[in-house]
Amino acid sequence: MQDLLGLSPLDIARAVRDVAPEPFRAAQIFQWIHARRAADFTEMTSLPKAMREALAEGFVIGVPKVIARTPAPDGTEKFLFELADGARIEAVYIVESKKTPSWTDPETPGASRITICLSSQAGCAVDCAFCVTGRMGAGRNLTAGEIVGQYLAIARAKGFGPHAANVVFMGMGEPLLNVSQVTRALDLLEEEVSPKRTTVSTAGVVPGIESLAGRPHRPNLAVSLSGADDSTRTKLMPINRTYPLAELFAALKRWPLERGRKITFEYVLIEGVNDTSADAVKLAALVRTLPAKVNLIPLNESKEWLPGLKRPSDATVNAFAKAVVGGGVPVTVRWSKGLQADAACGQLKGREEPRRPRSR
Ligand code: SAH
Ligand code: SF4
Repeated sequence: MQDLLGLSPLDIARAVRDVAPEPFRAAQIFQWIHARRAADFTEMTSLPKAMREALAEGFVIGVPKVIARTPAPDGTEKFLFELADGARIEAVYIVESKKTPSWTDPETPGASRITICLSSQAGCAVDCAFCVTGRMGAGRNLTAGEIVGQYLAIARAKGFGPHAANVVFMGMGEPLLNVSQVTRALDLLEEEVSPKRTTVSTAGVVPGIESLAGRPHRPNLAVSLSGADDSTRTKLMPINRTYPLAELFAALKRWPLERGRKITFEYVLIEGVNDTSADAVKLAALVRTLPAKVNLIPLNESKEWLPGLKRPSDATVNAFAKAVVGGGVPVTVRWSKGLQADAACGQLKGREEPRRPRSR
């Protein structure tokens, strides 16, 4: 059985040629799978019944199976999926109020914004010291269909339509170690989610950044830094040995940024490791060589899997933010959503037990 999810309209046309020969059928099927979130052929009521039956005999729509949903009181919901080979991955539905202060009623939050956080790999080989996903080991690359399928399954479950959500590649895995499938997924998502509303977050894989830079429609780029000098960063993110800061920043300077856009630098704050004012000043000096903004993420702790690593106090986080702003760089702090659902950054593991408890 061939999976039609993950195929472009052109590839669908080629695949279904024998059962649905008219050229417009592929576009219809693509619409049903994507914009209308059909999970099987019986739902495709604009196709003749005999055609639906013939399609069901030869093809599937491999939307990943939702095996658990964990809602948190703040509206965030974590989805656990099982893939065809039994691999488990997670994706997160995040809803934030835009908090547009209104002079008529300052207490009523404005419209809310939906963000879907997708996984690109089952596990992650990059092995950052502060990340639970890294504890799982390398896992495997997801296919474009498995990536887009997470989005479609969540859209169906939560009942939102096209152009209603932003997409961030900040779930499990390093998207730029899976560039070819992530790129295909970006193409497939483009009709639903404009690249302007899509963000790829990378640990700094230089060849992947270069490959994305060559695309005609680029997503927003977020780079996980977490250290403002090579020695701090290497301790936390071993990938810094392969692509040290100088090389990373040289690649970022070549990134074709549209006017008014900025590169986001994510910085996980860990008590006593990278959270002093001196670190903040160094960080600002490093990133302000580019149009940049900083997103501070106070560490999401895990006593079992990240023993010894602590989140700094709110006062330290605020002082750090102030020092970065003082260095001329805009800052946001990600006071994590979905903590109760274990759905916050760096806490996605796709199973209950990690392979290797951390001893560092
Ligand atoms: N591999 C990519 C995208 C997935 S991780 C990357 O590293 O950018 C998404 C974000 O979660 C990264 O910015 C990462 O630094 C952050 N993160 C990982 N573990 C975390 C933790 N325990 N607490 C807070 N943020 C964490
Ligand atoms: Fe992988 Fe990103 Fe976690 Fe690092 S932070 S181990 S790159 S998922």
